[in-house]
Amino acid sequence: MSDQTMDTLGRPLRDLRISVTDRCNFRCQYCMPAEIFGPDFNFLPKEKLLSFEELTRVTRIFTSLGVQKIRITGGEPLMRVDLPVLIEMLTQVEGVQDIAMTTNGSLLRKHALALKKAGLKRVTVSLDSLEDERFGKMNGRGVKVETVLDGIEAAAEAGLGIKINMVVQKGVNDQDILPMARYFYEKGHTLRFIEFMDVGNSNGWKLDQVVPSADIVRMIHKELPLEATNPNYYGETAARYRYVGTDKEIGLISSVTQAFCSTCTRARISAEGRIYTCLFASEGHDLRQVVRSGASDEEVARFISEIWSVRGDRYSEERLKNTKGLNRKKVEMSHIGG
Ligand code: SAM
Ligand code: SF4
Ligand code: SF4
Repeated sequence: MSDQTMDTLGRPLRDLRISVTDRCNFRCQYCMPAEIFGPDFNFLPKEKLLSFEELTRVTRIFTSLGVQKIRITGGEPLMRVDLPVLIEMLTQVEGVQDIAMTTNGSLLRKHALALKKAGLKRVTVSLDSLEDERFGKMNGRGVKVETVLDGIEAAAEAGLGIKINMVVQKGVNDQDILPMARYFYEKGHTLRFIEFMDVGNSNGWKLDQVVPSADIVRMIHKELPLEATNPNYYGETAARYRYVGTDKEIGLISSVTQAFCSTCTRARISAEGRIYTCLFASEGHDLRQVVRSGASDEEVARFISEIWSVRGDRYSEERLKNTKGLNRKKVEMSHIGG
């Protein structure tokens, strides 16, 4: 690793989240509501997506600036044709210590083995309920729970590490907290509860739909006793709790009630190749244009490090003081992938 790029709040650049497509086969109400992302919605044409070669090159440049961990996301990343080819290309980039992917799991049965062979280490599979009717409504496409559970099974068979993400929305799926905790406790996969966030401008976010993580911990602790554990590494997003007397865990991503901006080391590249320095940013920086302008590696590196060095994002901390949500234009989740 060479230079360690720091932002204005002294946070290093360590993680890169790459959105490989803005398309998805789900229409989760909290992310891509079907009323907005309908049949006439204009998704990006192929030529506007960064190619695998371009993504590999910019990843190499990002690692020269301190990035160690890569997360592939979307949209639904498995909608990108030949994704395992990209994974294999990224595993060969010097300085990449870890590659993970976040997926809705629906296409994992088909791709898990190829992903593992390509060098993927871990998947995070999103699942919000174990009850078909509720899950079908939440994913906006009537996809069955069994499809995702089977995808998780395929990932386990392939030898991928597995975590589960559950977005909790009051009055929508809070009754699923305990059944999900019990189920994944038995399965031995870490379940991470995510507070419903005000990402983008289309999901109709309201504070009273957020179930605070502290309430979730209390609820589970009554039935399955929990104890807090220390973070694994600087900048870890999830607060971790262990089931007492076991090595099984849950995680809580409390962007709304316990902001973790002070250790946020994440940069994001959107599907169309813009750099965002915060999940809640209004504007990105056009990396694709720079890459396609014939710029040298040094010029691209300078472009990135100048963006990072003036970064002062701390949206969730600001929201804590103004919990109605800050009224500004924000990038949609399906563009930058969480
Ligand atoms: N399609 C993949 C999936 O669903 O896992 C990857 C992209 S998705 C945008 C990444 C993660 O963001 C998922 O775990 C999803 O549940 C979460 N997410 C999406 N919208 C959210 C919101 N409004 N609040 C909290 N989490 C959200
Ligand atoms: Fe698709 Fe993931 Fe967004 Fe759901 S959360 S609509 S699966 S991108
Ligand atoms: Fe990082 Fe922005 Fe989230 Fe804060 S709000 S943790 S700066 S992505």
